[in-house]
Parts: sequence; structure tokens; C-alpha cells
Amino acid sequence: MNDTTASKTESLLAEVDQYSAHNYHPLPVVIERGEGVWVWDVDGNRYMDMLSAYSALNQGHRHPAILAAAHAQLEKLTLTSRAFHNDQMGPFLRELCQATGFECALPMNTGMEAVETAIKMVRKWGYKVKGVPADQAEIIACENNFHGRTTTIVGFSSEEQYRDGFGPFTPGFKLIPYGDAEALAAAINENTVGFLFEPLQGEGGVVVPPDGFITKARELCTQHRVALMADEIQTGLGRTGRLFCCDWEAVRPDVLIIGKALGGGVYPVSATMADAEFMNVFTPGDHGSTFGGNPLAAAIGRAALRVILDEGLSERTDQLGTWFINELRAINSPHVQEVRGKGLMIGVVIKESSGIARPFCEALQARGILAKETHHQVIRFAPPLIITQEELEFALEQTRKVLSV
Ligand SMILES: *Cc1c(COP(=O)(O)O)cnc(C)c1O
Repeated sequence: MNDTTASKTESLLAEVDQYSAHNYHPLPVVIERGEGVWVWDVDGNRYMDMLSAYSALNQGHRHPAILAAAHAQLEKLTLTSRAFHNDQMGPFLRELCQATGFECALPMNTGMEAVETAIKMVRKWGYKVKGVPADQAEIIACENNFHGRTTTIVGFSSEEQYRDGFGPFTPGFKLIPYGDAEALAAAINENTVGFLFEPLQGEGGVVVPPDGFITKARELCTQHRVALMADEIQTGLGRTGRLFCCDWEAVRPDVLIIGKALGGGVYPVSATMADAEFMNVFTPGDHGSTFGGNPLAAAIGRAALRVILDEGLSERTDQLGTWFINELRAINSPHVQEVRGKGLMIGVVIKESSGIARPFCEALQARGILAKETHHQVIRFAPPLIITQEELEFALEQTRKVLSV
């Protein structure tokens, strides 16, 4: 093969294959530009992004208001560390608290850091406030969970591959079946400090819990003085058609963990939200992050949040998502077992008899739609929330063609 016939994509894929750790299995597309719901590859092909970087791009690629905030901040100040104050973090945390109804926020960068922050906070609250004996604190999590990739977090994963070869693991975690309130009631004891859950499981295959589960979990946690810890890193900030997925049951968790779209697709920004009863267990030196709360992150986070609120992305998502799910369900396909989800967090489950989801994703790619399988059998559709009905119709048309044959 000579250079004139080899595509740019092929040579860039070969380079990544040689130099990168093989910890991902991406679709073979090399993207060089993005705008809104669209991306272009290095060979000039256009695709619709139906993954949105796992919901980190709810506002779309390169949203002008977020870019403007980033550019303005780049001209002034980018990093101070928390050894000094900066003029962006305070307003960012205040706006986050006003939008979420919590008293305090602790800013971090990635989602897994915010989850670790929540774990440390709730454990310390257990010892200092609830009175759990030293080193006895237990946190209950769910089977099929995804909360990130630190050694502590994968230690309580039920996914064998996430754990295999990475032990020994942090003790103090118990698993219950997802959505099973009776199992939660049975698992709680006097040393339980928290129940960590996703209000709708994303990486686990877009799994919606039974109606009322979040409400029951709230009741049990209140009754036994256990912190209800909602990981809304993927479900939050409009994705499910509410600002937060817990809003579907009008439940307020004790700890709200957010990330992904908080960075507006530009920068890693995450936060752990709670009232002072929890947050005040942290004293100087207990916890920290060199980059957490930096002025660039804070300026971008403020703009990212403002776009979600000002453009009414939750309401749009509710309307468009309901329509899109119904249209997907109406496709007459020999391959589809089930279509499930909320808002624009949708999983199309492929029947085992039709093979795995990956070839369907590859067929969608050939038709200009980038979607990614999760858990082998599920095609995930999670476009940027700024998508228009017309754009969704294009996605639907391509999906119909791929699923009908
Ligand atoms: C993506 C995700 C995380 C981890 O976030 P990172 O930024 O990748 O560390 C944690 N919890 C949930 C529910 C997620 O979807």
C-alpha cells in the first residue's frame, strides 16, 4: 500500500495501535472536527455523534457560549491550585448550589474523583457524626454498577473484567441487586453509612430501575440514617429529561455526584454536592486536588451549567426523548428485544439470536451515525441534548435501515 492510496484514517489507526495502551476498542473513525451534534473525520466524512462522549457533550461540540467563557478565562488566569483563592471558584460553587439545592460543593476534575470524594465524605460522616466504630463503615452499592476506575471503585464492581488482576481491593462495600428495595433494606445495618447508586445505569447497559425504587431507597436511608448517594455523572444535567434523574421521583439525595457535562465537553469538571452536615467533616488537609476548582474549570463549569438551564435542555430532552423512544419502539425489526431508557439516554437491546450489538454500530457508522455498544447487546443512543427533531429524524431513518434488514 502506498501513501497516496492509504487513507489518513488508516495511518492514524496504525499509529494508535502501535503506541497506545490497548485499554479501549473504539470504532475505527478518527475525528478531527466537531460542531453541535456533528463531527468530521480526517478523510472528510461527516457523522452524527450519538454517544456525546458518554454524556460529557450534552451541550454539543464546541458550544459557542462555553467556548467564549473558556477563551475569556484563558486570557486572564488558568490555575492557582487551592493554596490560593481564585475569583471563579466561589461563583461557580454558588451557582451549582443554587441550581441543585445543596448547601456546599467540593470541586474535582474527573467523575471518579468526585465518587472517591463522596466515599471519603460519607465514611468520615459515619465516624464523626453517626458514631460508627472506627474502620467499620459500610457502603452499599448495586450489582452492574459503574462508578469509575480507581482501585477502590473497581473493587466493588460486579464486572469481572473491571476487577481481574487489580486486587487487593478496599473493604467496606456490599452489593445488592439493582432496583431491589427489599435487598437494600436487608443489607442495611448499624454500620451502614451510605447507599451509592446510579438512578439509571449507563455503562451497565441503560438499565431503568423499577418505578418507586428511588423513593423507597430515600425512605430507607432516612429511616436508618444512611446517606443516599446519587451518582448522576452520566444521568445528570438534563440527560434523562429532568435536570437530575432523581427528579423523576422528586427525591433529593444526601450526596449528589456530578461530572461529565459539567465540563461542557471542553474540560474535565466534576463536583460532589452535599449539605454542611456532610461537607463539614472535611478539614484542611483531609482531601484535595491540584486542579480541582481551578479558574479555567470554574469558568467553563459556570458556562456549561448556564447553557443547560438557559436553553431549557432538560425540557427539550424530555419531549424529544419521548418521541424518539416511541419511534424506535415502532421499528419493525427482527433483531430488537427491547428499547429502554429515559430522555435521550436510550438503549436498544439486540436479541442474542441476532449476535452482538457491535456489527450494528459498525453498520450505523457506515451510514453516518456514531453510536457505541455497551455490555455487548445494547446499542446506546445518547446524542447531544441540543439536537433538533430534524436531526433525530435522520438518525431514526438510518437506524430503521440498519435494524430492519
Ligand atoms: C463516567 C462515569 C463515571 C466516571 O467518570 P470519569 O470522568 O470517567 O472518571 C462515574 N460514574 C458514572 C455513572 C459514569 O457514567
